[in-house]
Amino acid sequence: MQTYPHSPLAGQMMDQPLAISSILQFAARHYGATEIVSRPVEPGLQDTLHRYTWRDCERRARRMARALAGRGVAMGERVGTLAWNGYRHLELYYAVSGSGAVLHTINPRLHPEQIAYIVNHAQDRILCFDITFLALVEAIAPHCPEVRAFVLMTDRAHMPDGAAIPNLLCYEDLLDGATGEDAWPVFDENAAAALCYTSGTTGNPKGVLYSHRSTVLHAYASALPNVLNVGALDTVLPVVPMFHVNAWGLPYSAPLTGARLVLPGAALDGKSLYDLFEAEGVTFSAGVPTVWRGLVDYVVERGLRFSTFRRTVIGGAACPPALMDTLIDTLGVQVIHGWGMTEMSPLGTTGGLLARHRTLPAAEQRALLRKQGHAIFGVDMKIVDDVGAELPWDGRTAGHLLVRGPWIAARYFRDEGGDILQDGWFPTGDVATIDADGFMQVTDRSKDVIKSGGEWIGSIDLENIAMAHPAVLQAACIGVSHPKWDERPLLLVQRRPGMALGREELLRFFEGKVARFWMPDDVVFVEALPTGATGKIQKNRLREQFKAHRLPAA
Ligand code: ADP
Repeated sequence: MQTYPHSPLAGQMMDQPLAISSILQFAARHYGATEIVSRPVEPGLQDTLHRYTWRDCERRARRMARALAGRGVAMGERVGTLAWNGYRHLELYYAVSGSGAVLHTINPRLHPEQIAYIVNHAQDRILCFDITFLALVEAIAPHCPEVRAFVLMTDRAHMPDGAAIPNLLCYEDLLDGATGEDAWPVFDENAAAALCYTSGTTGNPKGVLYSHRSTVLHAYASALPNVLNVGALDTVLPVVPMFHVNAWGLPYSAPLTGARLVLPGAALDGKSLYDLFEAEGVTFSAGVPTVWRGLVDYVVERGLRFSTFRRTVIGGAACPPALMDTLIDTLGVQVIHGWGMTEMSPLGTTGGLLARHRTLPAAEQRALLRKQGHAIFGVDMKIVDDVGAELPWDGRTAGHLLVRGPWIAARYFRDEGGDILQDGWFPTGDVATIDADGFMQVTDRSKDVIKSGGEWIGSIDLENIAMAHPAVLQAACIGVSHPKWDERPLLLVQRRPGMALGREELLRFFEGKVARFWMPDDVVFVEALPTGATGKIQKNRLREQFKAHRLPAA
C-alpha cells in the first residue's frame, strides 16, 4: 500500500464514508416512487412482471441485511450469488455489501467445476441462487463444504420438494424472519464490498475485490455526461448480467441518479428483449456485441423500430462497426463504445466526440466513435513498448496499455498472481493506440496479436472488415505459424444462415481496406465460433484447433 505525506493543515469537511448502502438510501428518499420492473424466472411467473419502487427495494434490502447478520454472516465474509438480473439480486447487491459482508457474484455460465472452485476459493458462507440454477447447485453443493446455507431466491410457494441441497433456505422466509437493529451499519469506506472473478481464459479465475469507496466513486464517474449519461429521465435496461462485473455498475448508477430500472431476468433473446424495451419504454441499455447482434437482427429482419430506445453502451469486446452503423443509421440509437475490464470495476473509457469534431465529415466522426474512447476522470492511462518506455499519443503507434486509478485493482484476492502492478500501473493485457486528443483504440489483446515479420497485425481490425460483409455473421482472426514470417493471419468465419460466400470473394473484400501484409493468408468457414462464459470468442481454443493449419503458399 502506498502512503502519502500528511499536511499540517487538514481539510475541515465532514468525514462521511462513501458507503454503497448510502446510494440506495438516497434513491429511497429522493426517488422513492421511481419504479423497478423485473421479469421473474420462476416457472409460471415468466410471463408476468414484478413491479415495485426504490423505496420498497431499500426497505427489503435493509431487512435482508439484518437477516444475513442474524444468520451469522460477519463483516468481510462472502455471500455468493448465482442469479439473473432481477429485483432480489438487486436487493442482495445492497443487503450483502451494506451489512459489511462481501457480495460475490458468480457467472453461472462457467463450467460447474470452475464454479465450485470459485465458491471455495472465495470461501462463500452463503450461496443465494435463482431457481434456474437448482440442478447446478445440487451438483456443486457436495463439493462446497464451507457453504453454511443455500438460499433459493424465491417465495415459499415456489420452493421445490425434495431438492438435494443441505441447509436450503427460502429467500422470502429469511427476509420475513429478520430481527435486530433496523438501520444500515456505518463502517470504513475502504472495507471490501464485492468480489468478481475474471473469466480466466488461461489458468484459474482470479478474484477482484472492490471496496465501498471504489464502487461509489465508479458509480459517480460512470453516470457522467461523457460516460453513460444516465439520469432521472431514463429507463435503464441492463442486458449485461449482474453476474458479470456488476452489470457495469448500473445497479449503482441507476439509483444514484434516480433512473427507472428494468431487469430482464433470463429472457435475453431478441423477441423477449424487444417486447420488454417497447412495453416498458426503455431509453438506455448496455450489453456485449453478441447480445446486440441477436436483438438488432430480430428488429431489422422484421422491419421493426424502437419507439423510446435512444442510447446504448456496447463493450466487453470490440463493437463491430457494421453493428454500430445499423444501430445508429437504421435504428436511430446512439452507440457509446465502452472499454474496461473486471479489474477496472469495469469502466475505463467511453467513446464520443469533442465539440470541435461536430464540423467533421460524417465518416470521420464515425471513425472516432468506433474507437474505445476517452478516459473517464479517475482513470489514468499510457501505452508502453516491450521494455516499458512510454509511446507517443499519435493515433498510430500501438503499445501495451497500462492504467491506474482509485477503482483499479492493486492485487488479486488472496494474492493470486503476486504483485501484479508495474511501477504502480496495472497492465491491462490490451494493445492500443492513443491519439493526440486522448482517444484510445484497442488493436488487440497482447496474447491475440499476430506477429508477422517483426510487425504487429491487429486482429480486431481484420475481424471488423470481415464482419462488414453482409454474408458474415461472426469472424475471428488468429495467427498461425509460418516458416518465413513467424505468424500469418488466418480468418475463421461463420456465415449468416442461408447465405453463400467463398474464400476468394471474402479476400477480395479486404482489398484496398488494409495494407498488403495485413491481408489474411487464408479463410476457413466454420459452423460456429466457440464463446466463453462472458459471450466472447475463445481465441485460445481456436489457436489450439488450427495450430496445424497449413496456409496456402503465397
Ligand atoms: P476477462 O478479462 O476475464 O475476459 P473482462 O470482461 O474483464 O473479462 O474482459 C476485459 C477485456 O475485454 C479487456 O481487457 C479487453 O481485451 C476486452 N474488451 C472490453 N471492452 C472492449 C472493447 N470495447 N473493445 C475491445 N476489447 C474490449
